[in-house]
Formats: sequence, C-alpha cells, structure tokens
Amino acid sequence: MIATPVKIEAVETILVDVPTIRPHRLSVATMNCQTLVLVRIRCADGISGTGEGTTIGGLAYGEESPESIKTNIDTYFAPLLKGMDATRPGAAMAKLRELFQGNRFAKSAVETALFDAQAQRLGVPLSELFGGRVRDSVEVAWTLASGDTNRDIDEAERVLEARRHRVFKLKIGSRAVADDVAHVVAIKKALDGRGEVRVDVNQAWTESEAIWASSRFADAGISLIEQPIAAENRAGLRRLTRLARVPIMADEVLHGPADAFAIASARAADVFAVKIAQSGGLTGAASVAAIALAANIDLYGGTMLEGAVGTIASAQLFSTFSDLKWGTELFGPLLLTEEILTEPLRYENFALHLPQGAGLGIALDWDRIEHLRRDRR
Ligand SMILES: [Mg+2]
Repeated sequence: MIATPVKIEAVETILVDVPTIRPHRLSVATMNCQTLVLVRIRCADGISGTGEGTTIGGLAYGEESPESIKTNIDTYFAPLLKGMDATRPGAAMAKLRELFQGNRFAKSAVETALFDAQAQRLGVPLSELFGGRVRDSVEVAWTLASGDTNRDIDEAERVLEARRHRVFKLKIGSRAVADDVAHVVAIKKALDGRGEVRVDVNQAWTESEAIWASSRFADAGISLIEQPIAAENRAGLRRLTRLARVPIMADEVLHGPADAFAIASARAADVFAVKIAQSGGLTGAASVAAIALAANIDLYGGTMLEGAVGTIASAQLFSTFSDLKWGTELFGPLLLTEEILTEPLRYENFALHLPQGAGLGIALDWDRIEHLRRDRR
C-alpha cells in the first residue's frame, strides 16, 4: 500500500562549532575546530528527520563550506521542499538534483534528513531502506595526524590498549616526501604485529614522488595508500595502481556515481573510499558501492569527519554493503570535544555498533546544540 502523503513543513539549518581534541593536521589544512551543519526537516505528521553536511577545514578540502551549505539549503532547497511529500524522499531529491547543480554535501544533508524521517515513519532503522543490514557493527580505523611521530605512537598505543582501534591511517603530504616516509616507517615499526598502518596523502604528491614512496611503503609493510596524487590526474592514478605493490585507494577523485564508473572502467584504483557527502547523499553512495563491487574494487567506508549524525547515517548505509573489506574510518565524533547526543555512539572492540532504533537510531541533545550553535554564541 502506498503511504498517505505527509507535507514537509519546515527545513532548518544550524551551524555548530565544536573544538577538536587535538590539532588534526592534513596536507590541506590543520583543524582545531569542526563546524557541523545540522539540517532538521519537520513534517506534518510530527516526525522530524535530521541530516548533516560537514566538510574539512572550511573550503580547504572541497568547493563547499559550512556557510555555503547552510546558505544554499536556506535560500534554494528549503522553499522548494516545503509542501513536498515527505513520504517520497526519492522524488524530493530528484527535484533538487534537477533544479540545482553541484552542492553534494548540502544535498547529502537533506537526503539524510528525509530518509531519517521516512524510516522513523515506517518504524525501521535507516539501513532497512537500503536493503537491510549485513552486519550490526563496522570496524573503525583511527587517524593519526598530530604531525609528531612520537605523539602519534603514544596516541596509537592508548587506543590499542583501550581496544578502540587497531587500524591506523596516517595523514601525510605536508612535509618533504622522505620525511613523511621516515615518519610512517617509524610508526609502523613501533606498532609492528599489533596495528595495521595505512597512509592518506590527500593528493599532495607528484606522480614520481608517489612512485618513489610507494616502493618504500611496500618494503615497510604499509597496507594501503589513499589518494597519493591530484584527483585530476586520473591516468596517473591508473598507472600507480598498475605499478604499486601496495593497494591504491581512490578518495577525492570520487564525486559520485559518474566518477566511480569512470575510475572503475579504467581500473584506476584497487579500493574506493565511499563517502555519503562526496557522493551527493546516501543513494549516490550506494551507487558508488555497487559500481565498485561490480568491478571487483574493494570498499572502504570513508568520513568527512562528520559528527554523530553524519557518522551514524554513513554507518547505516555501510552496514548494508555485501562486502566491506577495508572497514571504515567513522571516528568523527571521537575527534570532537562535545557530545551532541543524549546517549553517545557505541565504540567498542575496534568497532562502531549500530543502534537498533528507527531512523538514524539516535537522540539529539537539542538543549546542548542550542548552546553550541554559532548564531546564539
Ligand atoms: Mg582521504
């Protein structure tokens, strides 16, 4: 039976500035604070859905900033969505995509809120709208990005001891290549046999630098190299994938299903980092994953360092992938100093455990969010 239509009554966007637990140093930016863009969609049946569009370092990572996400949702998306049928997220998103170019992060936030509301309406977890769960928890890697080798080793030892993470992704690319290689090899040696080490270069290297470093990483037992060269250099990524003795993961080059198809067709990566925001939303990310699996490319669940909402939305989708060989990096909330849920997400035994409740399965602490929102401070 087709559901009775339910009108969308209001779309609200909120910027929330939250300090990080330590400086998070990437090749593109050093973050001391994360700005979460929360989207709340209220429907005529009393149900509200929540989504999140969050990026890294303002405009340092991509072409959308927290402020542009908020402005474009408030100015363009919200007036269109008001009055539309909340029981048909697919139709609402098709209209948004038809009328508005780009804005993948903004669209992802809105789509998450629509699916959260609809899943609550149906009384099922969001994962059930994407085929149902294959797993109830996802392994979570930790990112070491303090910029200091010994500090990174200490941090890795602490989270290993707490059984929180055993896979470590090292953010590199802001120093000379030889210094980065020495940093990575030292951490790998310190953790040998106890923790897996991967690297993310965030596009910082030239192709020749990547060739040189990947050979050293292979010798040192590094297990994965993420987006070593510029996203524009797709032919180079293909050459590296053929050449390297370490699997190459595509990240920044993947802006949704069309890119996924192009990269898969050229076999220009061994692994895809699937991100809901980069894919323009949950359905786009599901398509990226389907293309990867059809092309025998492995999957990894990526993050834009989202807070709890974007993180659990991602986990709901990633839980449905038939294979998730490289796990996830859904640690965003652990990097932040403030809790915005009434009950924190459950990180235990190296994994994030999915909630059982309807929709996203989380309860936001709106009093806390009111206190943290930028326009009230
Ligand atoms: Mg990356």
